[in-house]
Amino acid sequence: MNSEDMYEIMKVKLSRVVPDVELRYKAEIAVEIEELKKQRNAVILGHNYMEPALFHSIPDFTGDSLDLSRKAAQTDKDVIVFCGVRFMAETAKILNPTKTVLLPSSKAGCSLAASITAEDVRGLKKKFPGVPVVTYVNTYADVKAESDICCTSSNAIAVVESLHTDTVIFLPDEYLAKNVARESGKHIIFPSTTTVADDAETGLDYQLIGWRGRCEVHEKFTVEDIQTVRSQFPDVLILAHPECSPEVTTAADFSGSTNAMIRYVQESKAPHYLLLTECAMGDNIAAANPEKDMLRLCMVRCPHMNMITMEDTRDALKFNQYVIDVPEEIRVKAYRAVERMIQIG
Ligand code: SF4
Repeated sequence: MNSEDMYEIMKVKLSRVVPDVELRYKAEIAVEIEELKKQRNAVILGHNYMEPALFHSIPDFTGDSLDLSRKAAQTDKDVIVFCGVRFMAETAKILNPTKTVLLPSSKAGCSLAASITAEDVRGLKKKFPGVPVVTYVNTYADVKAESDICCTSSNAIAVVESLHTDTVIFLPDEYLAKNVARESGKHIIFPSTTTVADDAETGLDYQLIGWRGRCEVHEKFTVEDIQTVRSQFPDVLILAHPECSPEVTTAADFSGSTNAMIRYVQESKAPHYLLLTECAMGDNIAAANPEKDMLRLCMVRCPHMNMITMEDTRDALKFNQYVIDVPEEIRVKAYRAVERMIQIG
């Protein structure tokens, strides 16, 4: 395919969200990437938070962490390029040890993944012997290796309930844990920094043991933001990711994973929508659903997701960078936790 043909294809979806001059430039890069993808027998996975021109052109599959983990587990390609952040690429490597996994930027980390270490998890296991550990996929491989099972924001409650146990260690996202506790009626404690207030909600017969990790994007949204937007757009439908605080998810009209939010917008009819999550996702939904009016609250962006560009993705395939490796003894243990989650769905 030449760049003119690629430009025409990209224009159909992107002409309302990406300026034409940028679209022509990115169409040229997309053609180079398609060629390199063939040469290297590669598959490209694109997270929902990728910028619109990338999201709607080069990935073979797009979706949330769970979707992309499943795609990574099923691929027969030699090379997996993960347009997402490091913990996602590590998960792909955990599931595909014989394949080359590339992350286009070496700097695409995550504040949540950085909030906890394997040593921290070992400390909690010592403090609460025999209590199963559920770890959000937004963690590094050595933390997953210390866990019994992983979860994503879309299956967190199903994973907790699958354990049929009174107490669960749920790591590391404080707000996701609180949202899970609220929805499932569980009592939550934070042993690292427990306060009287945390322990005050007694009377529930179940415990989640949490950790004070936070997503640096979702923690910034406030109830006041919601009130301000509602006063300007009274008929707006607001959707919040469960990494937002429980106050924010309660004040929103809907809370769910990135995929659940996309489905909700597609299946509902509202004059305006606002997503409380990485801003690029609003652009991606607007591009795919021109009849929907997406408002944006883009003053907070994920600096890690925004590290991944089309230029870097091309260079990843060209120069075989940045190769993701997970030591085998860690990979084998992390595999059990990830695989167990995938079985739950
Ligand atoms: S949006 Fe939040 S959880 Fe996702 S990669 Fe960025 S910092 Fe991590």
